[in-house]
Amino acid sequence: MISLLILPRCCTINVKSKGRILTGKGLSRLHYVHRKISSRFVCVQKLDLNGNGYSGVLGCQKSFQRGISGGGHGGRKQSMTLDDIAKGIREKEYKRIVVIAGAGISTPSGIPDFRSPGSGLYDNLQKYNLPYAEAIFAINYFHHNPKPFFALAKELYPGNYRPCLTHYFIRLLHDKGQLLRMYTQNIDGLERMAGIPDKKLVEAHGTFATATCTLCRRKYQGEDLHNDIMEGTVPHCSYCKGIIKPDIVFFGEELPQQFFLYLTDFPMADLLIVMGTSLEVEPFASLSGAVRSSVSRLLINRELVGPFAWGSSRQSDVAELGDVVSGVRKLADALGWMPELEALMADDRQKASKKREE
Ligand SMILES: [Zn+2]
Repeated sequence: MISLLILPRCCTINVKSKGRILTGKGLSRLHYVHRKISSRFVCVQKLDLNGNGYSGVLGCQKSFQRGISGGGHGGRKQSMTLDDIAKGIREKEYKRIVVIAGAGISTPSGIPDFRSPGSGLYDNLQKYNLPYAEAIFAINYFHHNPKPFFALAKELYPGNYRPCLTHYFIRLLHDKGQLLRMYTQNIDGLERMAGIPDKKLVEAHGTFATATCTLCRRKYQGEDLHNDIMEGTVPHCSYCKGIIKPDIVFFGEELPQQFFLYLTDFPMADLLIVMGTSLEVEPFASLSGAVRSSVSRLLINRELVGPFAWGSSRQSDVAELGDVVSGVRKLADALGWMPELEALMADDRQKASKKREE
């Protein structure tokens, strides 16, 4: 599996490559994690547009983790349960909950695993002769040929999919006044669709809700591009004729400013919920270690990931392993929130079908 790793600028890292050790500035901020070797070492691979690249072993994963966290707590046994977490939420002991989520919360909505080579979506893109699969999200390639990206945009465009129970659960946390912020890696817009407001949402990898002209930087609303994208044409700026790109974060682009809210959010959080993510993408992965050491962390995921797997778990950590929707349902059951959740979902479904009729 290959995933994106974004290295914080401040850290010094070493990559051993063909016997050479590249340090600090010798590295680009963008590498693809090729595979994880151990908790401290990952094999990275860097590719350029011509498909050239190198791979090497990246050590000191921990040192850049410390860049935003503060270190782990040495593999202690769990002493809390899902019911304890539910009690804390129900009794409003937790009032500043931070949620980190990844692709795993959207697969039940039918969102294809579009970042993985070999998935159906990439196969569909073969006619565009991409030099390598991830080129679709490479900004240099986009300037060269934007068509494959817009073909993907058409598939993923908000409206084709509906939020699932997990998205509505987070919306309900907000309705109850207990959500400090949700940090999502997803670009499907399902969080917004579930009614989580803008100010509560950090879409770390960007959004289709807004767009920017690549030439004059003029701002557009996502719906301004709707007709072009649905018709399969590349949208052009009405002022300068430049290509308008949805505000999705490409490889080689900075994360949105909003992401840096984590600097104030995480020290304030009183509960962290991590769901549906492999926690392999930096700097997302390090966020899970950025809450205070006394704060409980709940993982709802298929497997142990990040600090839950690295042996740096804390006594107050809880892992609910298995299908994400089932895990969320279990938590909602323990909270007694299922009737409310179902009503919320039914209401939204009704609104959506009314909108379609109009
Ligand atoms: Zn323009």
